[in-house]
Amino acid sequence: MIKVVRTSLRFIFYLFSFLVLVIPVFIWFFTESPQQVSPILFGAFLLQVIAVVVIQSLFAKTNEQLRNKQTQISLVSSEQFVSLYERSPIPYISLDAGGRVVMYNPAAVRLFETTNDKILGLRFSDYLSLEDENDLSIILGKLFSDHTIVDQEIQLHTEKGSLRWLLLSVYVYELGEQRLVSMIDITHQKAVDAAKTDFVALATHQLRTPIAAIRWNVELLVRSLEATKTEAQAKYLTKIDRNVMRMLALINDFLNVSKLEMGTFATTAEVIDLTVFLDAIVDEYDQKLVENKIFFERTENPPNLNFVSDPRLLHIIISNLLSNAVKYVPPEGKIKYQYELIDNEIIITVSDSGIGIPADELGKLFTKFFRARNAYSHQAVGTGLGLYIVKQSVQKLGGTIVVTSQENIGTSFRVRLPYLS
Ligand code: ADP
Repeated sequence: MIKVVRTSLRFIFYLFSFLVLVIPVFIWFFTESPQQVSPILFGAFLLQVIAVVVIQSLFAKTNEQLRNKQTQISLVSSEQFVSLYERSPIPYISLDAGGRVVMYNPAAVRLFETTNDKILGLRFSDYLSLEDENDLSIILGKLFSDHTIVDQEIQLHTEKGSLRWLLLSVYVYELGEQRLVSMIDITHQKAVDAAKTDFVALATHQLRTPIAAIRWNVELLVRSLEATKTEAQAKYLTKIDRNVMRMLALINDFLNVSKLEMGTFATTAEVIDLTVFLDAIVDEYDQKLVENKIFFERTENPPNLNFVSDPRLLHIIISNLLSNAVKYVPPEGKIKYQYELIDNEIIITVSDSGIGIPADELGKLFTKFFRARNAYSHQAVGTGLGLYIVKQSVQKLGGTIVVTSQENIGTSFRVRLPYLS
Protein backbone atom coordinates (compact mmCIF):
# COMPACT_ATOMS: atom_id res chain seq x y z
CA MET A 1 0.00 0.00 0.00
CA ILE A 2 2.76 2.47 1.03
CA LYS A 3 4.66 1.50 -2.11
CA VAL A 4 1.64 2.36 -4.30
CA VAL A 5 1.20 5.78 -2.60
CA ARG A 6 4.93 6.53 -3.01
CA THR A 7 4.91 5.58 -6.69
CA SER A 8 1.80 7.69 -7.35
CA LEU A 9 3.33 10.71 -5.57
CA ARG A 10 6.51 10.30 -7.56
CA PHE A 11 4.53 10.14 -10.82
CA ILE A 12 2.58 13.31 -9.92
CA PHE A 13 5.87 15.06 -9.07
CA TYR A 14 7.51 14.16 -12.39
CA LEU A 15 4.39 15.28 -14.29
CA PHE A 16 4.40 18.54 -12.37
CA SER A 17 8.16 19.02 -13.05
CA PHE A 18 7.63 18.39 -16.73
CA LEU A 19 4.81 20.93 -16.97
CA VAL A 20 6.67 23.50 -14.87
CA LEU A 21 9.80 23.31 -17.02
CA VAL A 22 8.30 22.83 -20.47
CA ILE A 23 5.20 25.05 -20.49
CA PRO A 24 7.03 28.38 -19.83
CA VAL A 25 9.53 27.55 -22.59
CA PHE A 26 6.62 26.94 -24.97
CA ILE A 27 4.89 30.18 -23.93
CA TRP A 28 8.11 32.13 -24.37
CA PHE A 29 8.87 30.53 -27.72
CA PHE A 30 5.46 30.96 -29.30
CA THR A 31 4.19 34.21 -27.82
CA GLU A 32 7.24 36.45 -27.62
CA SER A 33 10.26 37.04 -29.74
CA PRO A 34 13.57 35.96 -28.11
CA GLN A 35 14.66 39.63 -27.98
CA GLN A 36 11.65 40.63 -25.88
CA VAL A 37 11.74 38.14 -22.94
CA SER A 38 9.50 39.31 -20.15
CA PRO A 39 11.66 39.60 -16.94
CA ILE A 40 8.64 38.42 -14.88
CA LEU A 41 8.25 35.27 -16.98
CA PHE A 42 12.02 34.62 -16.85
CA GLY A 43 12.04 35.11 -13.04
CA ALA A 44 9.10 32.72 -12.64
CA PHE A 45 10.83 30.17 -14.80
CA LEU A 46 14.00 30.39 -12.71
CA LEU A 47 12.03 30.00 -9.46
CA GLN A 48 10.28 26.93 -10.83
CA VAL A 49 13.57 25.33 -11.84
CA ILE A 50 14.92 25.90 -8.31
CA ALA A 51 11.73 24.42 -6.78
CA VAL A 52 12.03 21.28 -8.92
CA VAL A 53 15.70 20.79 -7.99
CA VAL A 54 14.98 21.25 -4.25
CA ILE A 55 12.04 18.78 -4.25
CA GLN A 56 14.04 16.21 -6.22
CA SER A 57 16.95 16.39 -3.75
CA LEU A 58 14.48 15.96 -0.85
CA PHE A 59 13.19 12.78 -2.54
CA ALA A 60 16.73 11.52 -3.03
CA LYS A 61 17.47 12.07 0.69
CA THR A 62 14.38 10.15 1.81
CA ASN A 63 15.29 7.32 -0.53
CA GLU A 64 18.77 7.06 0.90
CA GLN A 65 17.44 7.03 4.47
CA LEU A 66 15.05 4.25 3.49
CA ARG A 67 17.82 2.22 1.88
CA ASN A 68 19.97 2.58 4.99
CA LYS A 69 17.11 1.39 7.17
CA GLN A 70 16.52 -1.64 4.93
CA THR A 71 20.21 -2.57 5.05
CA GLN A 72 20.12 -2.31 8.86
CA ILE A 73 17.04 -4.55 9.02
CA SER A 74 18.58 -7.19 6.75
CA LEU A 75 21.82 -7.11 8.80
CA VAL A 76 19.83 -7.62 12.03
CA SER A 77 17.77 -10.44 10.51
CA SER A 78 20.84 -12.26 9.13
CA GLU A 79 22.48 -11.90 12.58
CA GLN A 80 19.31 -13.34 14.14
CA PHE A 81 19.33 -16.17 11.62
CA VAL A 82 22.98 -17.03 12.31
CA SER A 83 22.33 -16.93 16.05
CA LEU A 84 19.27 -19.19 15.68
CA TYR A 85 21.23 -21.61 13.48
CA GLU A 86 24.15 -21.70 15.92
CA ARG A 87 22.13 -22.06 19.12
CA SER A 88 19.33 -24.29 17.84
CA PRO A 89 19.03 -27.61 19.69
CA ILE A 90 18.00 -29.10 16.33
CA PRO A 91 20.99 -30.29 14.28
CA TYR A 92 21.30 -28.45 10.95
CA ILE A 93 23.77 -28.97 8.12
CA SER A 94 24.04 -27.50 4.63
CA LEU A 95 25.08 -29.75 1.77
CA ASP A 96 26.73 -28.85 -1.52
CA ALA A 97 25.59 -30.30 -4.88
CA GLY A 98 27.70 -33.44 -4.23
CA GLY A 99 25.98 -34.07 -0.88
CA ARG A 100 28.97 -33.00 1.25
CA VAL A 101 28.65 -30.93 4.43
CA VAL A 102 29.65 -27.30 3.86
CA MET A 103 28.02 -25.73 6.95
CA TYR A 104 26.88 -27.12 10.29
CA ASN A 105 25.74 -26.03 13.73
CA PRO A 106 27.06 -27.34 17.10
CA ALA A 107 23.97 -29.55 17.54
CA ALA A 108 24.92 -31.36 14.29
CA VAL A 109 28.46 -31.97 15.59
CA ARG A 110 26.97 -33.51 18.75
CA LEU A 111 24.56 -35.69 16.73
CA PHE A 112 27.31 -37.05 14.49
CA GLU A 113 29.49 -37.59 17.61
CA THR A 114 32.38 -35.94 15.80
CA THR A 115 34.46 -32.75 15.84
CA ASN A 116 34.20 -29.42 13.99
CA ASP A 117 37.08 -30.21 11.62
CA LYS A 118 35.83 -33.73 10.79
CA ILE A 119 32.20 -32.87 10.03
CA LEU A 120 33.13 -30.49 7.21
CA GLY A 121 33.24 -32.29 3.88
CA LEU A 122 31.73 -35.60 5.02
CA ARG A 123 29.35 -37.27 2.57
CA PHE A 124 25.97 -37.23 4.34
CA SER A 125 24.55 -40.23 2.44
CA ASP A 126 27.37 -42.49 3.76
CA TYR A 127 25.93 -42.14 7.26
CA LEU A 128 22.30 -43.01 6.42
CA SER A 129 20.61 -46.40 6.45
CA LEU A 130 17.19 -48.05 6.41
CA GLU A 131 16.11 -51.66 6.68
CA ASP A 132 14.22 -51.38 3.40
CA GLU A 133 16.86 -50.84 0.69
CA ASN A 134 14.17 -49.65 -1.73
CA ASP A 135 12.98 -46.86 0.56
CA LEU A 136 16.59 -45.84 1.20
CA SER A 137 17.40 -45.53 -2.49
CA ILE A 138 14.25 -43.41 -3.04
CA ILE A 139 15.31 -41.04 -0.24
CA LEU A 140 18.90 -40.84 -1.52
CA GLY A 141 17.57 -40.17 -5.02
CA LYS A 142 15.60 -37.23 -3.64
CA LEU A 143 18.61 -36.03 -1.66
CA PHE A 144 20.74 -35.75 -4.81
CA SER A 145 18.03 -34.03 -6.85
CA ASP A 146 16.03 -30.85 -6.32
CA HIS A 147 13.36 -32.57 -4.21
CA THR A 148 12.21 -31.38 -0.82
CA ILE A 149 12.05 -34.08 1.86
CA VAL A 150 9.74 -33.54 4.83
CA ASP A 151 9.78 -35.56 8.08
CA GLN A 152 11.22 -38.76 6.66
CA GLU A 153 12.17 -41.39 9.24
CA ILE A 154 15.70 -42.65 8.65
CA GLN A 155 18.67 -44.04 10.60
CA LEU A 156 22.02 -42.31 11.04
CA HIS A 157 25.30 -44.04 11.97
CA THR A 158 27.41 -41.68 14.06
CA GLU A 159 31.22 -41.48 13.92
CA LYS A 160 31.37 -43.46 17.16
CA GLY A 161 29.22 -46.21 15.65
CA SER A 162 25.94 -45.65 17.49
CA LEU A 163 22.65 -45.70 15.63
CA ARG A 164 20.15 -42.80 15.87
CA TRP A 165 16.63 -42.54 14.43
CA LEU A 166 16.02 -39.21 12.68
CA LEU A 167 13.12 -37.24 11.32
CA LEU A 168 14.87 -35.89 8.26
CA SER A 169 13.85 -32.79 6.27
CA VAL A 170 15.77 -31.40 3.30
CA TYR A 171 15.03 -28.01 1.74
CA VAL A 172 16.62 -26.67 -1.43
CA TYR A 173 17.86 -23.06 -1.16
CA GLU A 174 16.32 -20.74 -3.73
CA LEU A 175 19.72 -19.38 -4.70
CA GLY A 176 22.61 -21.72 -5.41
CA GLU A 177 22.77 -25.49 -5.37
CA GLN A 178 23.03 -26.03 -1.62
CA ARG A 179 20.47 -27.77 0.56
CA LEU A 180 19.54 -27.20 4.17
CA VAL A 181 19.11 -30.40 6.18
CA SER A 182 17.34 -30.55 9.54
CA MET A 183 17.59 -33.71 11.64
CA ILE A 184 15.30 -34.23 14.63
CA ASP A 185 16.54 -37.04 16.86
CA ILE A 186 13.58 -39.40 17.53
CA THR A 187 15.63 -42.32 18.89
CA HIS A 188 13.92 -42.05 22.28
CA GLN A 189 10.36 -41.97 20.81
CA LYS A 190 11.27 -44.97 18.64
CA ALA A 191 12.42 -46.92 21.71
CA VAL A 192 9.18 -46.05 23.53
CA ASP A 193 7.19 -47.10 20.43
CA ALA A 194 9.04 -50.42 20.27
CA ALA A 195 8.38 -51.04 23.98
CA LYS A 196 4.67 -50.33 23.40
CA THR A 197 4.62 -52.71 20.42
CA ASP A 198 6.30 -55.40 22.55
CA PHE A 199 3.71 -54.91 25.28
CA VAL A 200 0.78 -55.06 22.83
CA ALA A 201 2.21 -58.25 21.30
CA LEU A 202 2.55 -59.87 24.71
CA ALA A 203 -0.86 -58.71 25.99
CA THR A 204 -2.78 -59.73 22.89
CA HIS A 205 -1.01 -63.05 22.73
CA GLN A 206 -2.05 -63.74 26.33
CA LEU A 207 -5.64 -62.64 25.59
CA ARG A 208 -6.05 -64.92 22.60
CA THR A 209 -6.09 -68.18 24.55
CA PRO A 210 -8.92 -67.29 27.00
CA ILE A 211 -10.99 -65.70 24.20
CA ALA A 212 -10.60 -68.84 22.09
CA ALA A 213 -11.74 -70.88 25.13
CA ILE A 214 -14.84 -68.68 25.60
CA ARG A 215 -15.69 -69.07 21.93
CA TRP A 216 -15.34 -72.85 22.05
CA ASN A 217 -17.53 -73.10 25.17
CA VAL A 218 -20.23 -70.87 23.65
CA GLU A 219 -20.29 -73.19 20.67
CA LEU A 220 -20.63 -76.25 22.97
CA LEU A 221 -23.46 -74.51 24.82
CA VAL A 222 -25.27 -73.70 21.57
CA ARG A 223 -24.97 -77.34 20.49
CA SER A 224 -26.09 -78.82 23.82
CA LEU A 225 -29.09 -76.48 24.03
CA GLU A 226 -29.91 -77.01 20.38
CA ALA A 227 -33.48 -78.24 20.81
CA THR A 228 -34.34 -76.93 24.26
CA LYS A 229 -33.13 -73.28 24.30
CA THR A 230 -35.71 -70.52 24.55
CA GLU A 231 -35.86 -67.63 22.11
CA ALA A 232 -34.31 -65.28 24.67
CA GLN A 233 -31.45 -67.71 25.40
CA ALA A 234 -30.76 -68.07 21.67
CA LYS A 235 -30.60 -64.25 21.37
CA TYR A 236 -28.13 -63.98 24.28
CA LEU A 237 -25.91 -66.70 22.85
CA THR A 238 -25.85 -65.03 19.43
CA LYS A 239 -24.86 -61.71 21.08
CA ILE A 240 -22.06 -63.37 23.08
CA ASP A 241 -20.79 -65.13 19.96
CA ARG A 242 -20.83 -61.94 17.85
CA ASN A 243 -18.93 -59.95 20.49
CA VAL A 244 -16.40 -62.71 21.10
CA MET A 245 -15.77 -62.76 17.34
CA ARG A 246 -15.28 -58.97 17.32
CA MET A 247 -12.84 -59.22 20.21
CA LEU A 248 -10.94 -61.99 18.45
CA ALA A 249 -10.74 -59.92 15.23
CA LEU A 250 -9.43 -56.95 17.21
CA ILE A 251 -6.84 -59.08 19.00
CA ASN A 252 -5.71 -60.54 15.67
CA ASP A 253 -5.37 -57.02 14.23
CA PHE A 254 -3.25 -55.88 17.18
CA LEU A 255 -1.13 -59.01 16.98
CA ASN A 256 -0.59 -58.60 13.23
CA VAL A 257 0.36 -54.92 13.63
CA SER A 258 2.92 -55.67 16.32
CA LYS A 259 4.38 -58.63 14.43
CA LEU A 260 4.66 -56.66 11.19
CA GLU A 261 6.21 -53.70 13.02
CA MET A 262 8.65 -55.85 14.97
CA GLY A 263 9.54 -57.79 11.83
CA THR A 264 8.56 -61.08 13.48
CA PHE A 265 5.70 -61.95 11.11
CA ALA A 266 6.74 -65.41 9.99
CA THR A 267 6.16 -65.93 6.27
CA THR A 268 6.09 -69.03 4.11
CA ALA A 269 6.23 -69.40 0.34
CA GLU A 270 3.46 -71.57 -1.12
CA VAL A 271 1.96 -72.11 -4.54
CA ILE A 272 -1.43 -70.40 -4.57
CA ASP A 273 -4.27 -70.80 -7.05
CA LEU A 274 -5.70 -67.29 -7.01
CA THR A 275 -9.22 -68.36 -8.09
CA VAL A 276 -9.52 -71.06 -5.41
CA PHE A 277 -8.00 -68.65 -2.88
CA LEU A 278 -10.69 -66.04 -3.59
CA ASP A 279 -13.50 -68.65 -3.47
CA ALA A 280 -12.61 -69.33 0.17
CA ILE A 281 -12.53 -65.62 1.07
CA VAL A 282 -15.81 -64.84 -0.71
CA ASP A 283 -17.44 -67.67 1.32
CA GLU A 284 -16.75 -65.59 4.48
CA TYR A 285 -18.80 -62.69 3.09
CA ASP A 286 -21.42 -64.61 1.15
CA GLN A 287 -24.17 -64.19 3.72
CA LYS A 288 -23.65 -60.40 3.92
CA LEU A 289 -23.57 -60.10 0.10
CA VAL A 290 -26.87 -61.94 -0.19
CA GLU A 291 -28.50 -60.13 2.78
CA ASN A 292 -27.66 -56.69 1.35
CA LYS A 293 -28.38 -57.72 -2.27
CA ILE A 294 -24.90 -56.60 -3.30
CA PHE A 295 -23.93 -57.29 -6.91
CA PHE A 296 -20.51 -58.99 -6.86
CA GLU A 297 -18.54 -59.18 -10.11
CA ARG A 298 -15.35 -61.20 -10.66
CA THR A 299 -12.93 -60.90 -13.57
CA GLU A 300 -9.92 -63.24 -13.51
CA ASN A 301 -7.33 -63.10 -16.22
CA PRO A 302 -6.00 -65.78 -16.61
CA PRO A 303 -8.33 -67.94 -14.51
CA ASN A 304 -6.72 -70.22 -11.89
CA LEU A 305 -3.45 -68.33 -11.98
CA ASN A 306 -0.82 -70.16 -9.93
CA PHE A 307 1.92 -68.20 -8.25
CA VAL A 308 4.17 -68.32 -5.21
CA SER A 309 3.33 -66.10 -2.24
CA ASP A 310 2.66 -66.10 1.48
CA PRO A 311 -0.96 -67.25 1.99
CA ARG A 312 -1.46 -65.48 5.33
CA LEU A 313 -0.33 -62.10 4.02
CA LEU A 314 -2.33 -62.53 0.82
CA HIS A 315 -5.40 -63.47 2.87
CA ILE A 316 -4.97 -60.35 5.04
CA ILE A 317 -4.78 -58.16 1.90
CA ILE A 318 -7.72 -59.50 -0.11
CA SER A 319 -9.93 -60.19 2.89
CA ASN A 320 -9.53 -56.67 4.35
CA LEU A 321 -10.21 -54.99 1.01
CA LEU A 322 -13.29 -57.12 0.41
CA SER A 323 -14.59 -56.72 3.96
CA ASN A 324 -14.26 -52.91 3.66
CA ALA A 325 -16.07 -52.94 0.32
CA VAL A 326 -18.92 -54.98 1.87
CA LYS A 327 -18.95 -52.66 4.91
CA TYR A 328 -19.04 -49.36 3.04
CA VAL A 329 -21.36 -50.26 0.15
CA PRO A 330 -25.07 -49.53 0.64
CA PRO A 331 -27.63 -52.29 0.04
CA GLU A 332 -28.00 -53.12 -3.69
CA GLY A 333 -24.56 -51.60 -4.33
CA LYS A 334 -21.79 -53.06 -6.51
CA ILE A 335 -18.41 -54.66 -5.75
CA LYS A 336 -15.94 -55.54 -8.49
CA TYR A 337 -12.98 -57.85 -7.94
CA GLN A 338 -10.46 -58.27 -10.70
CA TYR A 339 -6.97 -59.62 -11.20
CA GLU A 340 -4.73 -59.67 -14.23
CA LEU A 341 -1.17 -60.65 -15.01
CA ILE A 342 0.78 -57.88 -16.75
CA ASP A 343 4.55 -57.84 -17.29
CA ASN A 344 5.40 -60.19 -14.44
CA GLU A 345 3.10 -58.37 -12.05
CA ILE A 346 -0.22 -59.48 -10.62
CA ILE A 347 -2.59 -56.53 -10.42
CA ILE A 348 -5.52 -57.06 -8.05
CA THR A 349 -8.28 -54.45 -8.04
CA VAL A 350 -11.17 -54.22 -5.57
CA SER A 351 -13.67 -51.50 -6.47
CA ASP A 352 -17.03 -50.58 -4.99
CA SER A 353 -19.90 -48.15 -5.41
CA GLY A 354 -19.88 -47.23 -1.71
CA ILE A 355 -19.65 -44.10 0.42
CA GLY A 356 -16.17 -43.21 -0.86
CA ILE A 357 -13.49 -41.32 1.07
CA PRO A 358 -13.39 -37.50 1.40
CA ALA A 359 -10.61 -36.14 -0.88
CA ASP A 360 -8.88 -34.24 1.97
CA GLU A 361 -8.59 -37.45 4.02
CA LEU A 362 -7.20 -39.77 1.32
CA GLY A 363 -3.59 -38.97 2.33
CA LYS A 364 -4.11 -40.45 5.83
CA LEU A 365 -5.80 -43.63 4.65
CA PHE A 366 -3.03 -46.13 5.33
CA THR A 367 -2.09 -44.76 8.75
CA LYS A 368 -2.81 -46.52 12.04
CA PHE A 369 -6.28 -46.00 13.59
CA PHE A 370 -7.45 -43.72 10.80
CA ARG A 371 -11.17 -43.71 10.04
CA ALA A 372 -12.68 -41.18 7.61
CA ARG A 373 -15.36 -38.88 9.03
CA ASN A 374 -18.09 -40.36 6.79
CA ALA A 375 -17.25 -43.86 8.12
CA TYR A 376 -18.22 -42.78 11.65
CA SER A 377 -21.59 -41.50 10.45
CA HIS A 378 -22.09 -44.66 8.35
CA GLN A 379 -22.31 -46.72 11.60
CA ALA A 380 -20.00 -49.43 10.31
CA VAL A 381 -17.86 -50.71 13.16
CA GLY A 382 -14.12 -50.65 12.67
CA THR A 383 -10.76 -49.96 14.27
CA GLY A 384 -8.88 -48.14 11.50
CA LEU A 385 -6.18 -50.82 11.60
CA GLY A 386 -7.18 -52.88 8.55
CA LEU A 387 -5.69 -50.73 5.79
CA TYR A 388 -2.52 -50.10 7.81
CA ILE A 389 -2.04 -53.87 8.08
CA VAL A 390 -2.86 -54.25 4.36
CA LYS A 391 -0.18 -51.73 3.38
CA GLN A 392 2.43 -53.36 5.62
CA SER A 393 1.53 -56.78 4.18
CA VAL A 394 1.70 -55.58 0.57
CA GLN A 395 5.12 -54.06 1.23
CA LYS A 396 6.30 -57.25 2.91
CA LEU A 397 5.40 -59.10 -0.32
CA GLY A 398 7.41 -56.54 -2.33
CA GLY A 399 4.34 -54.85 -3.83
CA THR A 400 2.53 -51.51 -3.84
CA ILE A 401 -1.02 -50.36 -3.16
CA VAL A 402 -2.82 -47.25 -4.43
CA VAL A 403 -6.33 -45.97 -3.90
CA THR A 404 -8.68 -43.77 -5.89
CA SER A 405 -11.95 -42.63 -4.40
CA GLN A 406 -14.78 -40.16 -4.75
CA GLU A 407 -17.15 -39.44 -1.93
CA ASN A 408 -20.62 -40.94 -2.49
CA ILE A 409 -19.46 -42.51 -5.79
CA GLY A 410 -17.07 -45.28 -4.77
CA THR A 411 -13.57 -46.48 -4.02
CA SER A 412 -11.00 -48.55 -5.85
CA PHE A 413 -7.90 -50.21 -4.38
CA ARG A 414 -5.19 -51.47 -6.73
CA VAL A 415 -2.54 -53.86 -5.43
CA ARG A 416 0.53 -54.77 -7.50
CA LEU A 417 2.44 -57.88 -6.47
CA PRO A 418 5.50 -59.44 -8.10
CA TYR A 419 4.61 -62.60 -10.01
CA LEU A 420 6.77 -65.45 -8.76
CA SER A 421 6.15 -68.84 -10.33
P1 ADP B 1 -11.94 -49.88 9.51
O1 ADP B 1 -11.85 -50.99 10.48
O2 ADP B 1 -12.35 -48.57 10.12
O3 ADP B 1 -12.71 -50.22 8.28
P2 ADP B 1 -9.61 -49.75 7.80
O4 ADP B 1 -8.21 -49.48 8.16
O5 ADP B 1 -9.93 -50.99 7.07
O6 ADP B 1 -10.42 -49.63 9.14
O7 ADP B 1 -10.12 -48.52 6.95
C1 ADP B 1 -9.78 -47.22 7.39
C2 ADP B 1 -10.84 -46.23 6.92
O8 ADP B 1 -10.77 -46.11 5.50
C3 ADP B 1 -12.28 -46.65 7.18
O9 ADP B 1 -12.66 -46.33 8.49
C4 ADP B 1 -13.02 -45.88 6.13
O10 ADP B 1 -13.18 -44.55 6.54
C5 ADP B 1 -12.05 -45.87 4.95
N1 ADP B 1 -12.32 -46.94 3.97
C6 ADP B 1 -11.63 -48.07 3.79
N2 ADP B 1 -12.14 -48.80 2.77
C7 ADP B 1 -13.19 -48.09 2.30
C8 ADP B 1 -14.11 -48.30 1.24
N3 ADP B 1 -14.09 -49.40 0.47
N4 ADP B 1 -15.05 -47.34 1.04
C9 ADP B 1 -15.10 -46.23 1.81
N5 ADP B 1 -14.25 -45.98 2.83
C10 ADP B 1 -13.29 -46.89 3.06
